[in-house]
Formats: sequence, C-alpha cells, structure tokens
Amino acid sequence: MQSQRKYPKLYSFEFYPPKTEAGEVSLQKVHRELSKLDPDFFSVTFGAGGSTRDKTYDTVLKIQQSGISAAPHLSCVASTRDNIRQILKSYRDHGIRKIVALRGDLPSGMMSAGEFRYANELVEFIRQESGQHFQIHVAAYPEVHPQAANGIEDLKNFKRKVDAGADAAITQYFYNADAYFYFVDACEKLAIDIPIVPGIMPIFNYTQLFRFSDMCGADIPRWMRKRLECFGDDVESARAFGVDVVSGLCQRLLDNGAPGLHFYTMNQAGPVQAIWKNLNL
Ligand code: FAD
Repeated sequence: MQSQRKYPKLYSFEFYPPKTEAGEVSLQKVHRELSKLDPDFFSVTFGAGGSTRDKTYDTVLKIQQSGISAAPHLSCVASTRDNIRQILKSYRDHGIRKIVALRGDLPSGMMSAGEFRYANELVEFIRQESGQHFQIHVAAYPEVHPQAANGIEDLKNFKRKVDAGADAAITQYFYNADAYFYFVDACEKLAIDIPIVPGIMPIFNYTQLFRFSDMCGADIPRWMRKRLECFGDDVESARAFGVDVVSGLCQRLLDNGAPGLHFYTMNQAGPVQAIWKNLNL
C-alpha cells in the first residue's frame, strides 16, 4: 500500500443519467446537495452499447457548467472508432478533461458489431486521438472481474490499461478491505504506478444490492448478508447499519493510504452525506 500514499486524495461521486423528468429534477437536487461536499469531480455512467449516449452527454454538460468538473464514462463495446472519435471531439469542444474509459457489457441478446474488444484498446485510441487532453480513469477489480480467467490474468489485463496510458483507476465496489490491500500490493509488484481509488457502494436497498453484486462479482461477506436479511422491510435500519459498516470500511481504507474514495451514489445524497460526516471529511 506504500506507493498509494504519495497521491493527493481524490473524492468523486458517480451518477447515472436520469431516464425521466422526475429523475432529472431529483438529480439536480442531489447534485446541489453533494456539491456542498466539494468533490474533485462527478462522473456519469454510460449505458451499455451506447444506450444512454445522449443522456450521459447532457448530464455531463449540465454538471460541468455548474462549476465542478464532470467525467463522462465511455464504454467501447459495440462501438466503432468513428463513434468514439465523435464523442471525444464533443467532449473536448466542451472543455471536459476527464474520462472513465471502459469496455462495458453487452445487453443480453445484443450482438457486437464493435471495433473494440477490451478497454485497453479504448485507452490506446483515446491517447491516439486526443494526446494528453483527457485524464483517463479505468476500472480495477480487487475481487477479480467475473469474466477473467483468473486473478493473475485479470491483473495483467489491468496493467495493459495502465501501459496504454491510464492515469488513475477506480475499483469495483467491495466490502472487504483486505481484497483492496492485496490488490494494490500485487499492482506494486508489477510496477503499476497510478492511484487506485476504492469504489464505495453505500447500502440503499439490500435486495437490489444482493442481486447486483452476484452479477458484477462483488462479494458481500456472509455476516453482512445475514445481518441485512434480518432487517426485512425495515429499510431505515438497514440503511443505518449500511452507513455504519461502510463508514468503517472507508476509514480503514483512508487510514491505510487509499488515495481517496469514489462513491456510487445511485443518484441519492443521504447515505453518502452520512458516511462523509462520519469520516469528518
Ligand atoms: P476490461 O478492462 O476490458 O476487462 C474486461 C474483461 O476482459 C476482464 O475479465 C479482463 O480480465 C479481460 N481482458 C481485458 N483485457 C484483455 C485482453 N487484452 N485480452 C484478454 N482478456 C482481457 N459499465 C457500463 O456499461 N457503463 C458504465 O458507465 C460503467 N461504469 C463503471 C465504472 C467503474 C468504476 C467500474 C469498476 C465498472 C463500470 N462499468 C460500467 C462496468 C464495466 O463496464 C464492466 O465491469 C465490464 O464487464 C468490464 O469493463 P472494463 O472496462 O473493466 O473491461
């Protein structure tokens, strides 16, 4: 973990582009609330296969205009070089300086006619097209990406993205700090020298969280699962437990040198604000 201590701490909040007008109004409020915490940037997700392309773009521009920088996510699966070139140009023209570069996942049933296979190819393409204009963040998986052949191959694939020009990484969420510490130590041994910021998922709705975690390969420790199940419909108690556990996780990460935190906000302010307050940030 030693190498991570040298980086300034980066704090960021992730949104998804709202689908409805009500969602839009609600996101504006959440954005205002979380802006008070003065994060380094807000990031906005990009739907698989480009499904939210315009909405991601609109949300990013609105955030950027409000004064705190915005980082669009950009996934390359099912995309062509021309598509990506156009998107990069629009972002450059609007003064966007950060991008979260991803492969993405194809929705089931969709066939890829894309020109990119993996995120390292996207990072390489962004560098070819835009030089050093963008600060590029990529994804990292302390608990191993679900499609990876094994942990070592996954780590080598992560290094490909770094070698292609990534400046920083944001991890998939996890609740086991040791997974992150081991991952960062393994990266150090491969001479990977970029900040690896832990992705933090507050607990909003635990049945949804269980389902999503099974899909994306994030482990929910048995003791947490069992405790959460006991809350049944008592959403408030489950959230309070979540705030407690996740605050403890964040504190341990920061105390041990993690270079900041990236919160998956799910477009909600409450749990993030509560964790932030507990951390005295
Ligand atoms: P990659 O780095 O390409 O890795 C994908 C898999 O392929 C891994 O198993 C890896 O080991 C393997 N691999 C990589 N390179 C090679 C290679 N050269 N040869 C062989 N195997 C290789 N998804 C979205 O659709 N939209 C989003 O906005 C979004 N935001 C995210 C933000 C963060 C911080 C994270 C952690 C994930 C996000 N995702 C998003 C999910 C992500 O798209 C999926 O996890 C996807 O399955 C992998 O994307 P990646 O960029 O990590 O892919």
